[in-house]
Amino acid sequence: MSVLLASSSSPLRHGRYVPAVLHRAFGGSSTSQKALPFSLRNARESIAEDGKPESRFVRMLMFGKPGAGKGTLSARLVKKYDIMSLSTGDLLRQHIAERTEIGQITEGIVATGGLISDDIMLRVVTSRLELLHNKHWLLDGFPRTLGQGKLLDDHLRQRGTPLSLVVNIDVADEIILGRISDRWVHLPSGRVYNLSYNPPKVAGLDDETGEPLTKRPDDNPEIFARRLEKFYASTSPLLSYFASQAENGTSLVTLKGATSDEIWPQLENILNSAFPSLKERQDHKRRNSLSDAVLARAEADTTTRSVA
Ligand code: AMP
Repeated sequence: MSVLLASSSSPLRHGRYVPAVLHRAFGGSSTSQKALPFSLRNARESIAEDGKPESRFVRMLMFGKPGAGKGTLSARLVKKYDIMSLSTGDLLRQHIAERTEIGQITEGIVATGGLISDDIMLRVVTSRLELLHNKHWLLDGFPRTLGQGKLLDDHLRQRGTPLSLVVNIDVADEIILGRISDRWVHLPSGRVYNLSYNPPKVAGLDDETGEPLTKRPDDNPEIFARRLEKFYASTSPLLSYFASQAENGTSLVTLKGATSDEIWPQLENILNSAFPSLKERQDHKRRNSLSDAVLARAEADTTTRSVA
């Protein structure tokens, strides 16, 4: 069992960012640190359950406290690389905005920072995972409980497409508390802005659509404190669980930093090293979020129906 940790204080070497990767047992002493070039050797050599070498698709989970920057980092990955992102928070907000049955059941819980039950979340996620076969993808905000994690892990292994990478974004509580009051979002797309370091070009408006930005109802210190408690209670055991999955080809990486700008080069370096087949996008106008893919399918279905 091993865990790879990358520190934000890593030096630039030969002009290229090289994270100080620490290969150590989960919870082990940092005195056993060993600077290794990042290679995710386990992941690269992993074998799929059918015995064939597994094709190197990014099938990634992103963990972190609420407000740690998961949304920002996912958005950057999706914009730059040929990778699809599925955020359960965005999916739920989409359900709520569209007043679906799931939206009506979950609205109150999301607004007060509670966790949606595992069975509802699995319904939401597995129906969407069907659209992500043979793609590089990442899940943001899921799983959040040990139950969700094991169910997802089993589901993916049964399909012969196990998770290849689990990223833990580690930002100190005080830093997050200090910045949530500055956070604004564009709900339809999930784009996140921060007035201090990532402001919209025009105050109050989304850069791409010009639509108004809104405050998330759960972005205030009291709700944040509740969500943080839930994070420690529910998500921490998940990290221990995935730490035990290294021999199955799922690598756990912890990235530390105060801002997404500090964490971004570490994340990029890891993906470029471990997934050579992951390409940068050529056409930035291509559909690149799952909601776009879902919309495209719905549009195609409607067209087919109206033609028929
Ligand atoms: P997020 O945008 O990821 O911070 O999620 C917003 C809210 O959606 C959370 O506070 C929860 O109420 C709900 N939620 C999102 N993902 C999950 C999940 N995996 N399990 C349970 N509830 C979730």
